Amino acid sequence: MTQASETRSTCAYCGVGCGVLLRPDGQGGLSVRGDPDHPANLGRLCSKGAALGETLGLDGRLLAPRVAGRDAGWDTALQLVADRFRATIAEHGPESVAFYVSGQMLTEDYYVANKLMKGFIGSANIDTNSRLCMSSSVAGHKRAFGTDTVPGTYEDLEAADLVVLVGSNLAWCHPVLYQRLAAAKAARPGLRVVTVDPRRTATSDLADLHLGIAPGGDVALFNVLLARLDADGATDRPWVDRHVAGYDAALAEALRGDAGEIGVPAGDLEAFLAMWSGTEKVVTVYSQGVNQSAAGSDKVNAILNCHLATGRIGRPGMGPLSVTGQPNAMGGREVGGMANMLASHLDLENPAHRATVRGFWNSGPIPEAPGLKAVEMFRALGDGRIKAIWIIGTNPAVSMPEADAVRAAIAGGAFVVVSDIVETTDTTRLAQVLLPATGWGEKDGTVTNSDRMISRQRGVLPAPGQARPDWAILAEVGRRMGFGAAFDYVSPAEIFREHAALSGLAARLGRDFDISGLTRIDDAAYDAMPPRRWPIAPGQDGGRFFAHGGFYTADRKARMLPLRHRAPVARITPDMPFRLNTGRVRDQWHTMTRTGRAARLSGHIAEPFLEIHPADADALGIAPATLVEVHNTHGRAVLRALLTDRVRRGEVFAPIHWTGETAPSGRIGALLPGAVDPVSGQPELKAAAVALRPFAARWYGFAVSSGALAPAAEYWARARSGTGLRAELAGRAEPADWLAEARALFGLSADIEAVSMAAPAKGLTRLAFVDRGRLVAALFIAPEPVALSRSFLAALPGSAVGAEVLAGRAGGSRIDPGPIVCACFDVGVNTILAAIESEALMTVDSIGEALQAGSNCGSCRPELKRLIAGARLREAAE
Ligand code: SF4
Repeated sequence: MTQASETRSTCAYCGVGCGVLLRPDGQGGLSVRGDPDHPANLGRLCSKGAALGETLGLDGRLLAPRVAGRDAGWDTALQLVADRFRATIAEHGPESVAFYVSGQMLTEDYYVANKLMKGFIGSANIDTNSRLCMSSSVAGHKRAFGTDTVPGTYEDLEAADLVVLVGSNLAWCHPVLYQRLAAAKAARPGLRVVTVDPRRTATSDLADLHLGIAPGGDVALFNVLLARLDADGATDRPWVDRHVAGYDAALAEALRGDAGEIGVPAGDLEAFLAMWSGTEKVVTVYSQGVNQSAAGSDKVNAILNCHLATGRIGRPGMGPLSVTGQPNAMGGREVGGMANMLASHLDLENPAHRATVRGFWNSGPIPEAPGLKAVEMFRALGDGRIKAIWIIGTNPAVSMPEADAVRAAIAGGAFVVVSDIVETTDTTRLAQVLLPATGWGEKDGTVTNSDRMISRQRGVLPAPGQARPDWAILAEVGRRMGFGAAFDYVSPAEIFREHAALSGLAARLGRDFDISGLTRIDDAAYDAMPPRRWPIAPGQDGGRFFAHGGFYTADRKARMLPLRHRAPVARITPDMPFRLNTGRVRDQWHTMTRTGRAARLSGHIAEPFLEIHPADADALGIAPATLVEVHNTHGRAVLRALLTDRVRRGEVFAPIHWTGETAPSGRIGALLPGAVDPVSGQPELKAAAVALRPFAARWYGFAVSSGALAPAAEYWARARSGTGLRAELAGRAEPADWLAEARALFGLSADIEAVSMAAPAKGLTRLAFVDRGRLVAALFIAPEPVALSRSFLAALPGSAVGAEVLAGRAGGSRIDPGPIVCACFDVGVNTILAAIESEALMTVDSIGEALQAGSNCGSCRPELKRLIAGARLREAAE
């Protein structure tokens, strides 16, 4: 139930697409809670969604258009964009310009961008950061089903008897789906869960079986499964005969057998095969671990082969389920917002489809061939083939593979326009024209989540400064380029109606995406529109697909494909002996431009890190918590060593979130090659080859400040804290004067009192700056990783403490909570461990009763489970 003054909207982050209820606090902020009526989350939120209200505010917002670094009016900026794009096209042709857009955009924004580029500029050079996220799933769906259809729904997770998670750390990346699955398993312990991942993740802790597969071993695994299904007689031959083509060829290739590439113990493999083969209701969930690969499309089809061979698709509790990373990756797919797609799931290469869209838009000729996909687009920018690019709502200078080369390409681009809500990102710093966009909480439109649910995002806050919605900016440029009436939109509702009408034409051409039932939705109904799963058309209302066949191919049959294992492109060699896997952490999102603003989200993990097996670390002389240099021919990073056997020997893992703004040597994209899947164009982001060596730091530092904190050290990582900023620092050369260094770091003049403690023989220096009895900043230096209580220190700036802060940890009556585990209630690890011990807590729920931790969003429950298990182990050993 909504309360008075609450507005329904949708979370800004992942593809789960949780509904939220928003209430303005009257001071420019919002209170946020889960919408109990939204079918995706039924009131739940994860830590990121729950902290959405803390990510607002004008600090760091881009508030006015800028040209060449100076504020400019909208008229000047938009005329310049229109003129330069028009002149570039006139001189070099439509292929010389490009848009690089984002799965963060709303469907209406995406629709206008795609229409402008493909219909009126006449180029297909529009691609999106969704290319990096799930384009292999699109390609796999299209190859198997004839169109990009997600057959099932989230409810299938609860209806299944076996859920297999492939390349999916659901607990951290799609936490509310994880919570739904965990709740279903708790209610029905017979529901079994298998995780397939080279790395043991927080999600694996829920699993009955974890298959620690070799990187890239997915096709081999599902080929072996297909052969086993056939041998067991678990396939549904009558269904296959009616609805599927390609079974024999796929099986023949599967029988060639490449089980040696899977890399899991025979007993575990057998357990998995028997479980999948013997369970009718099986759902295979997959995400970036499958998609982000040069063999991503084949991996997707290897999974789809098994579901098609058994007919386990489109019925309750059965089917493949691709979960997307971004909030509107699916909406982008629906409007054809990628270089190889046309609107409404129509095909760019199909003349009848092009003619239909051209007629509907009343546009010029639509390009007949795909445009440049993301990796190729930035290479073309770098070598001058692209002479004007407009980047909207994304940060490719960090997030792309070959990120250093991409950053150089953007910096050297002939004409670079960036629309964003944030003033300073690695990408906005390089723009010649900057356009301020409205952000989440301020704009209106729709998004589609991973199970085809279309939900409204609603604006409840006023647009700050001169910010405008992306659709309005794009439409105005379209008008100024001379495309007049085609871009005369006055509202997102009007765009949505046009999008819905086009989908009706697409359906008549035999496409799956059909929301024509909403073509006549009026403004008030659009305003009030509840979440709706497509298709939405006469006689159809959001059901599953394919239980009775009806695929979107010429003969209405699905296709099984013969597939062969392909190893990751980057070779492991004696010079590059480690396989670098990448991914996300629980409480951050993409390049942290939003989640990085919430102090409690940074309290979980405040610094980039490298997971490395203890035996590998030992062999390389890498001690726990020291810094390690990761390098290859593409770039270099310096990361904090986290020794853990959750990664296998020879493999390392690093998160993707840190940027030039937060940890300049933690930009993981700089290490990733631009090798792409030949079908989908998706880059291989989880299988770089790298070498490691200790970073020979002479000193390590930790700093907290209530004001400025501007590191110039060789290594630094900065995060927000509840009282200001905190940073990790390190260097290979020691400054001559730490006091002067600290004043520069904090921007403090000589009249701010400094108290210090130094032990030069031990290389220890500790400095605190106090102004009128309150701590302003403190710096702790040591020759080894600084051992002190970071969460305790981060809470001190601004409070009435003096020299006692130099002890670096709690004393007397002060309590040190330790690093934050539960972001919702700010509960640290020390508090939890103390409660486990003193109150003999044995379950996650009992921790919730004692401390509230884990009782709200549930994102920390896997970590709480691990803390209990660790405490019990220690007890047993005593
Ligand atoms: Fe947002 Fe979390 Fe829901 Fe994803 S799971 S949509 S990040 S609240």
